[in-house]
Amino acid sequence: ALKVGIVGLPNVGKSTLFNAITNSKVEAANYPFATIEPNVGVVEVPDVRLDKLMNIFQSKKRVATTIEFVDIAGLIAGASKGEGLGNAFLANIRETDAICEVVRCFDNKDITHVEGTVDPIRDIEIINLELMLADEATVQKRLERIAPKIKSGDKLAKIENELLQKLKVCLSENKLLNTLDLNEEEAKILKGFQLLTAKPFIYVANVNDDELADDNQYVKQVKEYAEKLGNKVVKICAKIEEELSEATQDERTLFLSELGAEQTGLESLIKAAYDTLGLQTFFTAGPQESHSWQFKKGMTAPQCAGIIHTDFEKGFIKADVYNVKDLFELGSEKAVKDAGKMRLEGKQYIMQDGDSCFFKFNN
Ligand code: GDP
Repeated sequence: ALKVGIVGLPNVGKSTLFNAITNSKVEAANYPFATIEPNVGVVEVPDVRLDKLMNIFQSKKRVATTIEFVDIAGLIAGASKGEGLGNAFLANIRETDAICEVVRCFDNKDITHVEGTVDPIRDIEIINLELMLADEATVQKRLERIAPKIKSGDKLAKIENELLQKLKVCLSENKLLNTLDLNEEEAKILKGFQLLTAKPFIYVANVNDDELADDNQYVKQVKEYAEKLGNKVVKICAKIEEELSEATQDERTLFLSELGAEQTGLESLIKAAYDTLGLQTFFTAGPQESHSWQFKKGMTAPQCAGIIHTDFEKGFIKADVYNVKDLFELGSEKAVKDAGKMRLEGKQYIMQDGDSCFFKFNN
């Protein structure tokens, strides 16, 4: 499963947010393979379309697609030099697919800030500098490792070397590697390096409970900073998310309507992570089960069939496909068929968000 690492300076609200995540844990029976580690929280990707499908088909079982959040403790200034939990921290974060940076955007004189004052941009820069330093060290090591191969005229090593030099320049200019414009081949090689700042970033601006409606000055700063880099910002109050995660559905609905919001901050964060990872959703739906599945944008029908079961990909013949929005508009699968909106798709078909599929395969 795809993993999002939660990082941030001490006392910014990471544990509070992580509690909210683990409280809203998925129904364990549906996810027998979910990793059970103390620092990992598995959450359902919220999607009203799945609930609508449950309703239309009166399905017996509901299975939502999930993503994992990993609480990565121990980032302080100096982590890249092995201070604090330095090395363990770096190993943990390397395994994630995206980075979610929690930034303190609330004043509260009772809660100490490790740097003495509340200043979200300074905090972001402290963290990003540590991540860049760690990447710089990785790049340097890699360069040393391939040096003998370059001498001996190894073609692949030459390509790798050019990329590594580019990465080095980028980092020396104090820029995150995810800001680089790379071609497909370079992007593929880069992926193998597991560099931290090459991962997509999301910023979580953590505010006081009475600051959710309007952006305070700190949130405005974070938004301006992140938008320049093309990153998403999600504003939450971690404390409220923690309370909501323990509340009943009715209490949650009431709270949201008072705030005039459609979803909780945690739900917004999950969706932002999902989008940032380039994920989309397809469905398999019927009386037995309605199920949402995640796939990488651009995947073909056989590749998506393979997400359900590897045999489905190998034996793929074709798929009956319609988009669930046609089902919601027309009311039944039969009506979708009658309207000519159910299509037979072959191996080349690029799956679209909201497709509902019935795969046909040889076994
Ligand atoms: P961590 O060190 O980043 O994990 O931070 P914690 O989650 O332990 O939070 C540090 C302190 O800030 C705790 O006393 C929290 O109750 C408080 N806190 C966390 N989130 C919020 C928030 O959204 N608003 C306010 N006012 N306090 C918060």
